[in-house]
This record gives sequence, structure tokens and C-alpha cells, in this order.
Amino acid sequence: MEDWFSFLKQNVKKNFDYIIVGQGIAGTIMAFTLLKNQKTVLVIDEDKPITASKIAAGLYNPIVFKRIVKSWMADDLIPFMDKFYHESEDLLNSKFYHKKQIVKLFADESEKELWIKKSKDDVGKYLNTSFDSASIDEFIDNPFGAALVEQAGNLDTSLFLNDSRNYFNQQENLLEEIFDFDSLIVHDETIEYKNIVAKKIIFCDGYKATENKYFNWLPFKLTKGEILTISIPSLKNKTDFFEKVINKGCFVLPIGNNLFKVGATYEWNDLSESPTEKGKLELIEKTKKVITVPIEIVEHKAGVRPTVSDRRPLLGLHPEFPSIAIFNGLGTKGVMLAPYFANHFFDFLENKNSLQLDVDIKRFL
Ligand SMILES: Cc1cc2nc3c(=O)[nH]c(=O)nc-3n(C[C@H](O)[C@H](O)[C@H](O)COP(=O)(O)OP(=O)(O)OC[C@H]3O[C@@H](n4cnc5c(N)ncnc54)[C@H](O)[C@@H]3O)c2cc1C
Repeated sequence: MEDWFSFLKQNVKKNFDYIIVGQGIAGTIMAFTLLKNQKTVLVIDEDKPITASKIAAGLYNPIVFKRIVKSWMADDLIPFMDKFYHESEDLLNSKFYHKKQIVKLFADESEKELWIKKSKDDVGKYLNTSFDSASIDEFIDNPFGAALVEQAGNLDTSLFLNDSRNYFNQQENLLEEIFDFDSLIVHDETIEYKNIVAKKIIFCDGYKATENKYFNWLPFKLTKGEILTISIPSLKNKTDFFEKVINKGCFVLPIGNNLFKVGATYEWNDLSESPTEKGKLELIEKTKKVITVPIEIVEHKAGVRPTVSDRRPLLGLHPEFPSIAIFNGLGTKGVMLAPYFANHFFDFLENKNSLQLDVDIKRFL
């Protein structure tokens, strides 16, 4: 167990059904989906301290606030996600998936009227427009009232990924290194990587796919995001406030111990993983429009989201090398999209079901 991959140094071949490159939200959930279906899997990940998945707020929300419409496929994604994360909590004996209503503060009277109107149509099942915000009004700027979004919440991504990594390690499913493209040998039906033979390799390498020679032709339109962790000293012991996510131009997500995540920014030009003064000031400014009492900044991080020009995931096989696959493009919504589409991809890979056209990478050929 201590050095289970010592086989790499010996002249012995080890077989797996799948190699997965990347242990972010995409790679982790793809790996669990395969393992659950009795496939053997090796995950290769370099364990970088900062990745989009590790720093994400992990929010899921059935509503697109700009237009007050359902988020794409929300009715299918949410029940699937609920089941997947609850099963993962059981397997990993942990608690990282939290249902939390979102308090949407209205910007003005006309927005309030629009929400009330929308609550009567199809999107209404996720909205509660008769919310009395009195319990939190002491700390927030709320002149026009608020509505509640139901069936929302967050995944503690850092805990989920950490628990999953420990599990993969224990089960001898993890190789910690930077994947070396020069060591990959591609055959028609299999691939070889060092001493490892697999039926397929699935790249779940997030924004690094733009440097991946097999998939750098896909139209990624990467988006950097910055996020703060703050504390609000005067909120100590105000339990009501700790339960809900507040949203108005930014989100304020309670994560326990009087700490809150605030975010996020969207930046398309500077794609470094370094937090910036500009990002910090933008987030402080937005937070002050929501929280009326003093805040303290505890942490400031930045990551790069694997967003795509048409805002849909990227699933499929390499057009020339069918033993090389991609599961990527989860963009701004990895938490909601990954469980459903990992299962969809599994059905395609193993059961020969066809891929939904709007997620198949063939749309870009
Ligand atoms: C500030 C911010 C806030 C966000 N908030 C939310 C949110 O509230 N809700 C939500 O759903 N989404 C959110 N997101 C988006 C979410 O983070 C992404 O959808 C998701 O993380 C994408 O996961 P991924 O696994 O595809 O990519 P990544 O997280 O980038 O994971 C890729 C993994 O592959 C590894 N890797 C890459 N190349 C190699 C290689 N050659 N060798 C070894 N390892 C390699 C990386 O180290 C990494 O571990 C947010 C993103 C940011 C930046």
C-alpha cells in the first residue's frame, strides 16, 4: 500500500478500464460514476493547491437571475445531483452537500413586480415571493424586499474533493503527478501511459485543456473568477443569517464559524490564477451594497473556469483517436452539471447510447 504504484518502476504492466486526467469536479465525479458501475479507474492529478474546483463557492441555483428563467435543464439536473451527492456523502462518511435557500434582494420596484409575475409561470416552483426578510433586515440593505429561491444550496467543493482524494488513495485509484503527454502511446482500442494500459483515457483537465494537444481546438472561452472569504463580526450568534445565501449583484454564502464566501468576478482577458487588487475592490464594493455592517477579509483567491463559447459542456471522443475522450466545459456550473453528464457520458461510453447533440464535441467539427 505504501508505494502501490512501484509497478511504474518495474517492467510490469497494470491494466485499468479508464485513466482519468484531473481530479477537479469533472474528474472526481466521472471517476465515481465509473467505479459505481464496476469499472476500474486510475485518476492522475498533480494536486495543485489552487484550482477552479477547489476555490469555487459550489453554489447551485435553479434560476438564471438576469432573465428569471429556469437554468438550463434544471428540472433534470437537480434530482440527479441530489441523489449523487447524498450517495457520495454516505460512501465517504462526510457532509459536504447543503440545501440552502437563496434570498434574492430586489434592485427596485419593477424587479419585484417581475418576480411576482414570474412566480406564477413554469419557473414558479422554485420561487417563493412571500418571504418576510425582517429577520435579516438589520444587516442588509433591502429597501425593495426579497424573494426566496428554493432547491438551491452549495457543495463544499474543497471538502468533497479532499475526501474523494483520500478515498481514491485508499482504493489505489490515484497517481499524483503532472500528466506527461510524451509518455502516452495511442493504439486503436487501448492507450498506454508508462506501464499502465487502459481502454480509454478521459481528459478532465479543466482550463488546461487549452494546452492539451488532443483538444486545444475546442472553442474554450476561459473566464477567470475571484472570490473572498469574509467574516462579519457583528453577526455572531445571529443564526437566521447563517442559513441562507444572500444575492444582489454578488452572493454572500454562509460557510459556518461566522465566515462567508463572497463572489464572484468574471474576467476574460487576464487569465492568470493570481488574485488582483481590482477583483478585491470590486467584490468589497458589491458586498457593501448588500451588507450594511463592517466586514473583515479573511482570504482572497482566484481560479480559471473552463467556459465554452456556447456555454455547454464538452463530451466526446477524439475524432481521430477513439481511445481518447474528454469530459470538460462545465463552465460556471460544475456542481450542477457534473453528476448528470458523467452518467450521460458513461451511458455513451459503455452502453453505446448517443450523446445529447448540444454537449457532444462533434458540434464543433
Ligand atoms: C471563483 C470561482 C467561483 C466558482 N463558483 C462556482 C459555484 O458557485 N458553483 C459552481 O457550480 N461552479 C462554480 N465555479 C465553476 C467551477 O469551479 C467549475 O465549473 C469546475 O471547477 C470545473 O471543474 P473541472 O474539474 O472541469 O476543472 P478544474 O477544477 O480546473 O480541475 C482540473 C484538474 O485537472 C488537473 N490537471 C490539469 N492538467 C493536468 C495535468 N497535465 N496533469 C495532472 N493534473 C492536471 C488540475 O490540477 C485540476 O485538479 C466557480 C469557479 C471560480 C473560479
